[in-house]
Amino acid sequence: MQGIKFDWLKSCPEGLYCQPADCFIDPARAVPRALITHGHADHARPGHEKVLATKETLKIMKVRYPSDLAQHQQLNFGEKIRIGEVTVWLAPAGHILGSAQVVMEYQGQRAVVSGDYKRQADPTAIPFEPITCDLFVTEATFALPVFRHPKPESQLEKLLSSLQAFPERPHLLGVYGLGKCQRILLLLRDLGFDAPIYLHGALVGLTELYRSMGFDFGNLLPVQGVAKSDLSSALVLAPPSATIDRWSRRFTDPRIGIASGWMQVRGRARQRRAEIPLIISDHADWDDLLRTCNETQAETVWITHGREDALAYELGKRGQKAIPLRLSGRQEESE
Ligand SMILES: [Zn+2]
Ligand SMILES: [Zn+2]
Repeated sequence: MQGIKFDWLKSCPEGLYCQPADCFIDPARAVPRALITHGHADHARPGHEKVLATKETLKIMKVRYPSDLAQHQQLNFGEKIRIGEVTVWLAPAGHILGSAQVVMEYQGQRAVVSGDYKRQADPTAIPFEPITCDLFVTEATFALPVFRHPKPESQLEKLLSSLQAFPERPHLLGVYGLGKCQRILLLLRDLGFDAPIYLHGALVGLTELYRSMGFDFGNLLPVQGVAKSDLSSALVLAPPSATIDRWSRRFTDPRIGIASGWMQVRGRARQRRAEIPLIISDHADWDDLLRTCNETQAETVWITHGREDALAYELGKRGQKAIPLRLSGRQEESE
């Protein structure tokens, strides 16, 4: 919604704009100066002149946009800098590797833009840190009471049981390529799964980046070039769309799983032909959204990204002034 102002922070067609810093946060179009919360494509776009983000986010952007000419500036968590008349620092968001909340302080007021976040543990991300503030900008991807994310380990046990029950069939698990893929690889290893795991080509580059930053995923092999017969009992991770497209025909009678917060919705699992729907999300669920908004003690909450009205209504009942932002360029999270 245009024209909503917190005096110095406003919602524009390009995204959230901090006027006294002359800077956009996660803009949907190329701008002179952008603060980027994390590497997902709907937040980190190419074409900006200057980009400020965590070291990890900048590395992810380099892998995704190798020819981008943006001037990168790294900011560590907690390190304060001045941009124009604003003090800016980053706090962990717990969403994916390098994901940050942007904290801005100006004339005695503090605004926090959370980007995407979750409160569940994730071996690839530093845990979310609640920051008290006057204005909190929250996401609302799973902001309905029906969304309650179980422990991811309990979900992966379903996959491991299926691998045991159907040892003669390949298993394809659809995972989002940045964050979800690497989180699940680490969780599977933690659960004792030590066989090789095959990766669709689209997942290789970013997983390599994680590996170069010290994450140990055990034995990973590319699917590319492997004979059909050798994949007959393999566990394969792939982008969710690949599990039902032409690519999946190289497997004989696969069992298909999808790991996504959307798997809580039965119709979505059916639509994806997921026999093994795993509810694993990198976003906060309903309870964690409410808890987080409460912990920030923000008088005003702006809501982006998803079920804005449901969350606005509930926060309003609890005494916070909550406003849906309806930023452009934000579709439903494909996570
Ligand atoms: Zn994200
Ligand atoms: Zn997002």
